[in-house]
Amino acid sequence: MQKDSERLRELSINHPSAWDMDRFRANWLLFVETLLKEEANSLIPSRRIRWQIEQTPAFQEVVADWDNMDGLHRLDAWKRLLLAAEDACRTILPACFQCGECCRVGSPTLHLEDLVLLQSGKIPWDQLVTLRKGEPALSPFDGRPFVLPEGRIKVREKEGLRECVFLISETDRCSIYDDRPLQCRAQACWDPIPASETAEMPFLLREHIFQGVDLMMEIIAEHETRCGFAVLPGAFEELSRSSGGNIQEVLRLLSYEEHFRQFVSDKFKIDKFKIPAQNMELLFGRSFTRMTTLFGFRVAEEPDGTRCLLVDEPGGRA
Ligand code: SF4
Ligand code: SF4
Repeated sequence: MQKDSERLRELSINHPSAWDMDRFRANWLLFVETLLKEEANSLIPSRRIRWQIEQTPAFQEVVADWDNMDGLHRLDAWKRLLLAAEDACRTILPACFQCGECCRVGSPTLHLEDLVLLQSGKIPWDQLVTLRKGEPALSPFDGRPFVLPEGRIKVREKEGLRECVFLISETDRCSIYDDRPLQCRAQACWDPIPASETAEMPFLLREHIFQGVDLMMEIIAEHETRCGFAVLPGAFEELSRSSGGNIQEVLRLLSYEEHFRQFVSDKFKIDKFKIPAQNMELLFGRSFTRMTTLFGFRVAEEPDGTRCLLVDEPGGRA
C-alpha cells in the first residue's frame, strides 16, 4: 500500500512550478510532518527536522532563488528538498538546532551547579519559582505525573502555558542559550539519556540559595510548618465531600497563607536581603490562591475588592 508521504510527494511534485513562497512553505511543512508520522523515530519533533534542513545552505539557496526559478528548476529543487527531508529523518544529527520545541513542553528544574548562573545574574531571581514538597508535578522525561518528594526550583513558565519564559516566541530561540541551566544543556531530542542522568545530580534547593541567611531560612521553615502544601488537598476533599458546604477551612487556609506573605513583605522588609518582593514565589512557592486551580477552583476578585472562590469553569461558583 502506498504511504501517505509517497502519495503526497507524487501529488505535490506535479505542481511546484506554480507555487509562490507561501505555498512552497505550506507544502514543505505538510510534507515534513507527514513524513515524520510514518518514520519510526517519531520522538523527534518535526520542527527540529525542519530546522535541521532549513539551516543548510542548500535550503536557504532554494528559498532565496525560488521566485526567480523557472518551473523545471523549481521541480528539481523541490525533489532535492524532499530527498533531504527523508534523509534527515533517518539520519538525525546529534546536535541541537535550537528549534525551541522542547522548551514549549516545560521549563527546566535547576540543579546545584546552576547556582552560579543565579549568583552571576545570568538567570534573574524573579524568573524562578519554588515547587514545594508534596506538590503534583510532571516528569520532564516521560510527562508522567508524580508527587514531589522534596522541593524543587524551576524557571518560570509563561502564564497559562508550559512554555519556558526564556523562549522567544517570535524566533523560537532561547534568550539565555549560552547560559542555560544544566537540564537544558543535557536536553537532546535525539538521545534521552543525558537529560535523564541529570535526575541523579543534586537539585538546587532554597537552602543552597539562602545559605548563611538564617532569618530567611527560619521564615521559610515557619511558612512550611504553617502553610505546607499537604494541608490543601484535605481541605478541598472536605469541600468536595460536603458538596460545597464545608468551605470554611479552604477559605481560612487561603486567607492565612496570603496574610503570611503580606506580613513577611511588610515587616521583614525583604529588600534588605537584596531580594525583591516579587520573588515571593521563590521564597514560598506558588501561593495557595494560585494553587486552587490544581483542585478545580480559582479565586476571582469582584469590582468592590471582594474575593470569591469559583469552580474553575466559566460562570462557576463554589
Ligand atoms: S534539543 Fe530541543 S531545542 Fe534542540 S533541536 Fe531538539 S527539540 Fe529542538
Ligand atoms: S532556558 Fe532556554 S533552553 Fe532551557 S527551556 Fe528555557 S528557553 Fe529552552
